[in-house]
Parts: sequence; structure tokens; C-alpha cells
Amino acid sequence: MPKPSWPTVETLAEEGFRWVAITWVNNVGAPLVKVVPLAAFDAAVATGVGFSPVADAFGAAGAIDPQHPLARPDGDLRLRADASALARLETHSGWAWAPGERFERSGAPYAADQRHRCRLQQKRLNEEGVELKAGFELEWLVAIPDAQGAPQPAVPGGPYGADRLIEGLDYASALLEALQAAGIPWLQFHPEYGAGQFELSLAPGTPLEAADRLVHSRLVIQRVTRRLGWHCSFSPKPRLERVGNGGHVHLSICRDGVPLLQGGANPGGLSDAGSAVLAALLKELPALLGLACPLAISYQRLAPGSWSAPFQVWGIENREAALRLIPTDADAAPAHLELKVADHAANPYLLLAAVQAVTLAGLKEPQPLPPPVSGDPAKLPVGSAVRLPGSLAEASAAFAGSALLREALGDALHGSLLASQAAEVRRCAGLSDTELAAADAWWPLVGGLG
Ligand code: GLU
Ligand code: MG
Repeated sequence: MPKPSWPTVETLAEEGFRWVAITWVNNVGAPLVKVVPLAAFDAAVATGVGFSPVADAFGAAGAIDPQHPLARPDGDLRLRADASALARLETHSGWAWAPGERFERSGAPYAADQRHRCRLQQKRLNEEGVELKAGFELEWLVAIPDAQGAPQPAVPGGPYGADRLIEGLDYASALLEALQAAGIPWLQFHPEYGAGQFELSLAPGTPLEAADRLVHSRLVIQRVTRRLGWHCSFSPKPRLERVGNGGHVHLSICRDGVPLLQGGANPGGLSDAGSAVLAALLKELPALLGLACPLAISYQRLAPGSWSAPFQVWGIENREAALRLIPTDADAAPAHLELKVADHAANPYLLLAAVQAVTLAGLKEPQPLPPPVSGDPAKLPVGSAVRLPGSLAEASAAFAGSALLREALGDALHGSLLASQAAEVRRCAGLSDTELAAADAWWPLVGGLG
């Protein structure tokens, strides 16, 4: 397949594209959308389309939470498409895609817009000569509902199995072709450990590019899976008895063009500045969890022994450490960190806005980094590896108490997120673990299979 040309309104129009889906991601990680004709895209960039601020009061099941401060009928925002990120969604049907940011009707940026916040933090970091690159890894389950409506793996075959690849080769081909047609760069694809689970590693980019790429690729994956008659589940824990789906994020950091996570004399080859970044991320992890794992079901995934890394430790190539350092000598790629706790309900713009703010704070006020942990932190003497918050209520309390994240996100967004977290805690308060897993089993299908 020839490489498609760079997408502009003109090239897409020539290629027969007709519609643009403009998405943004709300507080509970759901991508929301307005569609415009391609011919009206320039207006959607310049003046935007209307979107009520109430959409950040939507709970994870879709309903407006009446106690959320944004649960009111008044006010309107303009969702403006970012022309520089216009892309193909599905060529044969003429659908294009672009991420959007919400503005006040006056034209001022909306203070509680998640993508805008990521952009601001990126600018702040770049002004200090620091550049963070991020790349997401996506895991998902390809499934059909069983008699009870629970996800049943649709493609047989073992963990990392070539048998599963061959059983699902039409699926793999359709997906990889669709990703190429959509212009989504990726590094690796494989059948994951869990039954019917697949994984895609996206190419790294700036925080905005990485978050956009994640949103875009999940739409493509959802679409291709549906076309083949199955559903995908990105739920952090589609079934209690099986492994969960992670949305790990890889990070590399340069200052004045020099990579900070390598070339130093500290453990793992960390430079002093790299150690300081790691120390800051480690310290802030309980608060970051409120963004990385924003649903009640997220905490069913974060169990020891499932490589979801629920301990507040770092390690060199340790897959049970919440922060895994992958040194440069392993694969000649720049040394990078893997934040393993994150799942797909995380709003990627918020997560990366927060990670950038913590990175900058770490560089400005360096703190000592504890030694790395090797082996399974669960097997260390009691008290030596701290468990991260075990529930959304705990993570939300840590998020509420983080002056750093409040400053980074701004009071309006921080407050709105706290209200969304409280709504999610209330939604799930009376549910057993099984009911909770069932309620969110088909995420990102908000409300399930219906
Ligand atoms: N499925 C695991 C998770 O929930 C991750 C497995 C891996 O390390 O790739 O995050
Ligand atoms: Mg994986």
C-alpha cells in the first residue's frame, strides 16, 4: 500500500473524504465527538462547534452526575478542531478525524479543557529547554458476549502465541492496514498474555502527539474489531479472573538535547537530573493514580502478580515496579521510563499534563531517589515496598492533597476532576467486585453493550 499523503482539507477532499469526527476526552476518559462536513472543517477550526460544559459531569456509565458542579443547563463552549492534527479515520467510508480543544464563546481558552492543559505544560517544559517524548502501549481484549453478556475471548490461542496470530490473521491484517491508512505510526503488535488479548505499541511523539495518537488508534481498533463482528474491550479488568488491560506509557526526557535517563553514574545509568525526575514521579505516584487509574474498576486490575505494578517503587527492567527504567543498552533506543499503572480510562492529555508538571518540579527541586527494587516487590519484607492506593477513594484523596497537581491543572480542572472522582466512587459504592467488573466490562462502550 503506498504511503498516504500528508492530510490537509484539500488532499482529503481530493481523496473523497466527506466527514470529520472531532473528539475530545472528558474527565472519565470517554472520547466525545461532534461531526462536521469536511467542507466546513475550516470553520470548525476557526470558530468551533458548540459543546455544553456539562459533558465533564458525565459519569463512567454516561449519565450526568447531579452533584457535579458542572451539572447545569447553562453555558456553552466551542470545540475547535486542531488542523495540524487532522488525520484519516477510515478511507473507504470517507471519514477523517481531528482532536479538538474547547474554548469559551469569547474566544479565550476554556480553563478546564484537558488537551489545552497538556499543551500548556508542554510549552512550560519546552521553555525550560526540556523535551518529553511519550508513547503509549495499548492492550485490549477481542471478545463476544457470552450468555450472561460477559466478554468471552473471540480469538483462541496462547499467550504471545503465533497460534493466536494465525487464528486471527485476518483481524491482524485488517487492523495493521487500517492503522497504516490512518497514518498511525506503531512499533510492535502481538497477542498478549491474556486469552483473546492483543497489544499495540505506538511510536513516541510529543505529549500532544502521543495522546492524540492513542485516541485515534483506539477508534481505529474499535472500528476494525466491530467490522469483523467482534467487540473490543479496553476495560482495565474485563473479567475478574483474568489479567487486565494496561495503557502503559513510555517516557524519555531530554534537556538541551541531552537525554537525562542515561549516561550518568547513578543506578541504571541515570544522570543526576534523570534521578531527580524519577524521584519526583515516584513521590507523586499516589496522586497521579487518580488520573492514571480514574475508575473504581481500575483498582481491580492493580493487583500484585499481574504486571500492573501496584507498588510505589522503581526498578531497572522490573515489570512489577510502577516505574520501570529501560536502560539504553537494552535496545539502542534512548533510555526510557515505563509508567505501568496507567489504564485506558485515563485521559491521556491529563495524564501527560501531570507527568510533565512533575518532571519540571523534579528538575527544579531535586530530591534523593531511593534505590531500585529488583524482583517481586510483593515478596519483600512487609513495609519495604509501599502499595499504591488500593481504591479510587484513596487515590482521589492523594490527588486532592497534591499542591503540585492542583497548580499544574489549575483550580477549575482540579476541582472538576475531584467532583468526577467522587461521582465515580458513589456510582460504585454499592456494587460487588463482580457487579463492578460486569458494569464496565465493555469499556469504552459507555453503558456496555446495551
Ligand atoms: N496486562 C498487564 C497490565 O494490566 C501488563 C502486561 C505487560 O507487562 O505487558 O498492565
Ligand atoms: Mg503488555
